[in-house]
Amino acid sequence: MNPRMQPVPEAPEMTAAQEAELARIRGMIVPGRACGTCTLCCKVLSVPGYEHPPGEWCRFCLPGKGCGIYQTRPYTCRGHYCEWMISKGLGPEWKPDKAKFVLFGSNAGRRLTAHVDPGYPSAWRRSPYYENLKAWAAQAVQKTPEMHLIDVMIRDYTIIILPDRDVEVGVVAADELVTLDKRMTAAGNVVEVRKIKAGTQPHSGAVDK
Ligand code: SF4
Ligand code: SF4
Repeated sequence: MNPRMQPVPEAPEMTAAQEAELARIRGMIVPGRACGTCTLCCKVLSVPGYEHPPGEWCRFCLPGKGCGIYQTRPYTCRGHYCEWMISKGLGPEWKPDKAKFVLFGSNAGRRLTAHVDPGYPSAWRRSPYYENLKAWAAQAVQKTPEMHLIDVMIRDYTIIILPDRDVEVGVVAADELVTLDKRMTAAGNVVEVRKIKAGTQPHSGAVDK
């Protein structure tokens, strides 16, 4: 069946609390910012209920135009804005359809992920992006009590950005965590990255999938 011919979902019924939450989130948008022709989050992220393989377009997306079911799109889509939309400090070069990746914060601000368009898998390595990711990583490992995390995802392949190196942890399964731990060495603090089964040990900094 042609995915475009699938039935259009009905508009979600929202509670007063959800309406208030959407109003709060819309209030975070930097004045003058709009998605315009960008639709990249509809490719690199999956919406609960409309899951699609990471890196492939949502079946309702009209790439470069917008959401094909805008009026009835699910609640999750209505409340999701990328960092470019809500962070004043990110200039026009960070707009996802130009950068070729989408910055999203998660884990209550403890994780910042660059979700990369698989059509441009090295986009995050270009200037000015890579040096900024490195600078943010340097700040992230100084956070207490838990280190924060800067990472890159290409489809479901994860790369942890640290101040001194990048660590490819690969695919993180649903029952796994990535942990960060600081270890004192003669050369100073070294951050160790490990992928572990969830619940196997306490950790000083951890990131769910
Ligand atoms: S990635 Fe950001 S700018 Fe692009 S469509 Fe999504 S929210 Fe809008
Ligand atoms: S339903 Fe619309 S807004 Fe949501 S991911 Fe699909 S195309 Fe994007």
